[in-house]
Amino acid sequence: MNRGARFAAPLLAFGLALLAPPPARAQSFQLPNFGDASKSGTDQDKTAAGGLGGLLGQVSGLAGNQGTQEEVQSGDAIAATVLGAAPVWRNPKVQNYVNLVGRNLARQVERKDVPWRFAVLDTPSVNAMAFPGGIVVITRGLYALLSSEDELAAVLAHEIAHVNRRHQWKVIQQQKLVALAGNTALGDNPEKTASLVADLGTRLIARGLDKSAEFEADRDGVVIAARAGYDSSAMISVLEKLAALKPGDPDTALLFSTHPAPEDRIAALAEAATPDLEAAAVPSPAAARIRGMQ
Ligand SMILES: [Zn+2]
Repeated sequence: MNRGARFAAPLLAFGLALLAPPPARAQSFQLPNFGDASKSGTDQDKTAAGGLGGLLGQVSGLAGNQGTQEEVQSGDAIAATVLGAAPVWRNPKVQNYVNLVGRNLARQVERKDVPWRFAVLDTPSVNAMAFPGGIVVITRGLYALLSSEDELAAVLAHEIAHVNRRHQWKVIQQQKLVALAGNTALGDNPEKTASLVADLGTRLIARGLDKSAEFEADRDGVVIAARAGYDSSAMISVLEKLAALKPGDPDTALLFSTHPAPEDRIAALAEAATPDLEAAAVPSPAAARIRGMQ
């Protein structure tokens, strides 16, 4: 299937306005500190979300900061447990690059109350994941499969969408309420409650979200990437690459057990196409920037 068959539409003047290149300015290199929430709120960009007019309402806005601190601290604790054994790839150039692309994407969503942090993990596994509170990781195995910055943006935007919608955090909060209802003494012990939340989150990451949340993150992610000036069809090309992987491979086992089949995700995205997204289905000026970064 060629690109035109995915999102076939003329490039409108409106679409051209979307294609301003992502900013090339250097940003300071910061590795995520998975065990320390004290850095929350230090690097927030208050730039208003731009572009894509009528699609703005498709990505949920969630107002208010109530509970954000607990979300960030819990997310960091969950990430510390899940990623404890997975080292961050010691490649400052790539880490800086992925943070640059990720932060540019994160500016396009409504949530400005979390400290977004992006990292590439040094593992051949093929996966990406988000944690409550703004930590987004992609594995070196998945990063190596990507052939354009548009595809990197598609992957990161999907994960940003999970955080923006609080997909994981909502599930964890529901499960916490159930646990507290069954053990009222637990609620009086903040340390035990925090440990319970971290445990619930760790299990959720291993089990995955329900399919509807994954399809929603795909749809939101395409809009977020297009708002930032990226090719709106890049998620489809990433999913085609995932579909071509061997399902029995241990490096892809977690990805396939926690997400719907790539073919189903492609079909759902095709159904969600709009004229605006079709107009944005062209490679961005930054597409080739990933070369030399892999
Ligand atoms: Zn997902």
